[in-house]
Amino acid sequence: MQATMKVAPTGTGMGPHVTGRKRGTCIVVANRANLEFILVVKIANLMRFAPYLKGGCVSYMGSELIIKNLHANIEGKAILRGVDLVVKQGEVHALMGPNGSGKSTLANVIMGNPKYEVTDGEIWFKGENILEYSPDRRARMRLFLAFQYPMSIPGVSVANFLRRSLEAVREGNKPLEEGDNPTGKMAKRKSIPPREFRTLLQEKMRLLKVDNSFINRAINDGFSGGEKKRAEILQMALLEPEIALMDETDSGLDIDALKIVSESVNALTGPNLGILLITHYQRMLNYITPDFVHVMFNGRIVKSGGKELAFELEEKGYEWLKPVDEENEVGVNG
Ligand code: ADP
Ligand code: MG
Repeated sequence: MQATMKVAPTGTGMGPHVTGRKRGTCIVVANRANLEFILVVKIANLMRFAPYLKGGCVSYMGSELIIKNLHANIEGKAILRGVDLVVKQGEVHALMGPNGSGKSTLANVIMGNPKYEVTDGEIWFKGENILEYSPDRRARMRLFLAFQYPMSIPGVSVANFLRRSLEAVREGNKPLEEGDNPTGKMAKRKSIPPREFRTLLQEKMRLLKVDNSFINRAINDGFSGGEKKRAEILQMALLEPEIALMDETDSGLDIDALKIVSESVNALTGPNLGILLITHYQRMLNYITPDFVHVMFNGRIVKSGGKELAFELEEKGYEWLKPVDEENEVGVNG
């Protein structure tokens, strides 16, 4: 029997907390020896049940990022003007759109960059409204942003940077009691034994085919465009986010670097990872197949579809999707 591993939409909105079932699990209908079972399985173990599955998940209890009617300003200027989007663990979404449409703004606002002011709407992650959470707390909940322009930090080696990041993320998001420190941090952070860290790092480096010399260099310092993007992806591999936002991971890469970077992203995709892949061009989608494609125009998602939408955009450009009111504005202004 052919079983599909696609995760079915639940439409439950707040996911994990609706029924109190464990996060990262999924209900499936299985069939063995002509008997039908309904099972709750861990998403991570789903493949083991593949031969017996009838279809995919009927109810998905993984992590969801839910964005509702999100409005945000920068320096008093309205950039996001009502974004609605749901990204679930295991799904790959591409967010496309012309330059200046607000794609990076969306990624930054989801991650909690304080430069942006949220003026309306909600952001939910794993059943919690995270709008008031600090960026590091969002990261400890396993939300991740791969930067379009990663910063270099001379003097800090890739290995050290990764180890400290992993220690921080492993700390998790402590549920708050009244009177607690609002950051949700533990009082004391546990360090990772060097040997354990090395083994884990080696495993991830093998997976991504990253060279050993890479990790002793200062992070992003003197790195080529492609190396910077690979450092972001290595970080992502190690931190194992549940939802990752990848901002223009393809920008500034030549075709060889683009292939390598895309392969790395593909190596990480699977039922435990949801990706919002932000890209201006269709070319990265030749290597990474999205489940959904969204087009942003002037701070709103104006169209969503399947992977074929990306090809349509490649052929026709973005202008045909420009909302009518924007055209009028352009007409009035010149
Ligand atoms: P995209 O990633 O889709 O190219 P951005 O989110 O970077 O778009 O930018 C959206 C809009 O926000 C653009 O019009 C841009 O000029 C504006 N913008 C971005 N950063 C700033 C800033 N620091 N101050 C003022 N306007 C900004
Ligand atoms: Mg951008």
